[in-house]
Amino acid sequence: MELMLSAIKPTGDLTLGNYIGAIKNFVKLQDDYNLFVFVADLHALTVRNNKEDLNRWIKEVAAIYIACGLDPNKATIFNQSDLPQHAYLGYILTCESYMGELSRMTQFKDKSARGNNESIGVGLFIYPTLMAADILLYDAKYVPVGEDQTQHVELTRDLASRFNHYYGETFVIPKAIVAEKGARIMALDDPLKKMSKSELGDNKGSIRLLDDVKTIRKKIMSAVTDSDNLVKYDIENKPGISNLMTIYSSLTNKSYDEIEDEFRDGGYGNFKKAVADVVVEEVSKIQVKFNEIIKGDYLDKVLKEGALKAGAIASKKIDEVKRKLGLII
Ligand code: ATP
Ligand code: MG
Repeated sequence: MELMLSAIKPTGDLTLGNYIGAIKNFVKLQDDYNLFVFVADLHALTVRNNKEDLNRWIKEVAAIYIACGLDPNKATIFNQSDLPQHAYLGYILTCESYMGELSRMTQFKDKSARGNNESIGVGLFIYPTLMAADILLYDAKYVPVGEDQTQHVELTRDLASRFNHYYGETFVIPKAIVAEKGARIMALDDPLKKMSKSELGDNKGSIRLLDDVKTIRKKIMSAVTDSDNLVKYDIENKPGISNLMTIYSSLTNKSYDEIEDEFRDGGYGNFKKAVADVVVEEVSKIQVKFNEIIKGDYLDKVLKEGALKAGAIASKKIDEVKRKLGLII
């Protein structure tokens, strides 16, 4: 089976965007690929967190993976910082990268736009090189990501080719897999902005997988839409309604045409209620499992076993890289 790898950063309570754009797809893919899924906790250090939050979020990501249906007997689930090989190869790939190409990463541009140059963390600047290491360590062939991450996979391909060119065939060139639908769930309070788990503020835009059911309903019922009351998929002119249609479609497998038919005479109130119903149903199931998994030492055991399996592969790759670079005497 071909190796596929993906991850989520523990930078906030997971959102419906993370579920629809990432985790839900991982679950489908675990039968057909040798799937590696990890908690990208080193990536969370690019922003300042308090340690209690970070610790809780690490456990949350791992437990949500399993609660959503990832099976530790099929997929390899681990925590990034348990394996020093990631940071090691990350440093080497940072040395292979150019200021110019890293400066062009739109995620960096977006996330640094809020600060001034003096106080923007270097970690934020070089995080794509660590992400490249995460992928190349395992010779992952496929990397399922949301649209916001495709540029980083492109960079990973460039770095892999560059290394292979200078030091000889070492890394498999990976490919990004972007889902056709649901790759970019938008914020409910601003459908021109991506739903993000690290979003602060009043938090009306993001549905959290661990939000209570009442809060979820309230957020969906007050989602920003246009006012023409016609349920129609039109991303340009009706981004709010189109976003809700994407959510509904992803969870019910109904096509946009079917959804338009279903709510032709219903208006936005009925439609929003239907969206809330399916979201609440899906999320409630996840929450029941989450509450079981988070108890006891099961999670700890899963992450230890995952780290052992992934670590064996990563160590071999680091040896190879060191040999290629002339670091082994
Ligand atoms: P942050 O705000 O910290 O960047 P995030 O919600 O963007 O958090 P990431 O950890 O960056 O989450 O990404 C985890 C996975 O979820 C990636 O595959 C990413 O592409 C996907 N993803 C993130 N946000 C969305 C979204 N709004 N819609 C669909 N997929 C998403
Ligand atoms: Mg992100």
